Amino acid sequence: MARTPQPDDPLGLYLHIPFCTSICNYCNFNRGLFDAPLKARYVHALADEVCAAGDGAPVDTVYFGGGTPSLLEPEEIAALIAACGAGFDLAPDAEVTLEANPETVHAQALRGWMDAGVNRVSLGVQSLLDTELARLGRRHSAARAREAIGVALSAGCDVSADLMLWLPAQSREDCAASVAGLLDLRPTHVSFYLLELYPNAPLRDEMARAGWSRAPDEDAAAMYLDTLARTDDAGYEQYEISNVAHPGKRCRHNLKYWQDGNWLGFGCGAHSTRAGRRWRNVAETGRYVDMVERGLPPTAERRELTPAEQLGDALFTGLRVVDGIDLDLVRERYGVDVMARYGESLDPFLDAGWLLHESGRIKLTRQGMLLANEVMGTFV
Ligand code: SF4
Repeated sequence: MARTPQPDDPLGLYLHIPFCTSICNYCNFNRGLFDAPLKARYVHALADEVCAAGDGAPVDTVYFGGGTPSLLEPEEIAALIAACGAGFDLAPDAEVTLEANPETVHAQALRGWMDAGVNRVSLGVQSLLDTELARLGRRHSAARAREAIGVALSAGCDVSADLMLWLPAQSREDCAASVAGLLDLRPTHVSFYLLELYPNAPLRDEMARAGWSRAPDEDAAAMYLDTLARTDDAGYEQYEISNVAHPGKRCRHNLKYWQDGNWLGFGCGAHSTRAGRRWRNVAETGRYVDMVERGLPPTAERRELTPAEQLGDALFTGLRVVDGIDLDLVRERYGVDVMARYGESLDPFLDAGWLLHESGRIKLTRQGMLLANEVMGTFV
């Protein structure tokens, strides 16, 4: 079992890069089309924001998310990591992740990123079937995704690959083919999510026009469980509902979100949580840059979390992790006996075999992970 993080553990830093070469038809992230002059100003603003927030606190993870952070030049990535090191006490063995789209990964770019300090790339593979990639409006082919994983692994970089399951017109066999193909490439970490179709996603219209429907709900559950069975067989450890890794390769940054940690987010729309306070930046890229350039804090909203909110968040997100919630730690940190307060609501889930209460922890079973939102709803 992994060690449970403590409140005074080092911070994680998240840097948001909101630029993409094209916009995928299902995407609901905070991003826009690549604009070179705006990107140059944005990188300066981001470095300034990091430096202004720097208080020398220990940091052991840096995560470049987006958007498509791999559209930055290696020198820009180096400048941003240097800003993190100037403002904070950046651990020499910090995990430094760069989200990348497969079509941007070349041996030379990878060398540049690694020289800048990146040691982990998170690749948006999504599928290893060209028909599915085309339906999603992705720019890369399955062959290009395979090549990107190979290039990164042979450079000695840790590789996390994202897959999406329950795609339009995807059968269980199609899903299994992508999973098996991906596992053959031996990425160090795999994340897999059921595709969420948000209300205004252009993909919805395309599905209606083309007559692509999604498999029934029970097939979605089967795709999820089948993926986990395959990753188990391939020697990966599941450590979160949708994440598996080779031993020692769990994403330390994302674990801070799930295990009641502290992190600072920089860039447009980025969120931060530290010492019971939560704040977020303005979402719009141009407005963010203008504010930082004028010397204004780019914060849109800031508030203190109530003790009840902090406890609710810790329990809600803590259940996502396979090791579950350490009940003694919750008692120590929040003065709450979880089973005394929530036992009656949790009993039906324990009886149904969705939840386990053992060795001082509560945790979801694999069956329970399929219905996680229902169980986690107990805490909000
Ligand atoms: S590359 Fe990622 S962030 Fe950019 S549009 Fe596609 S899904 Fe959204």
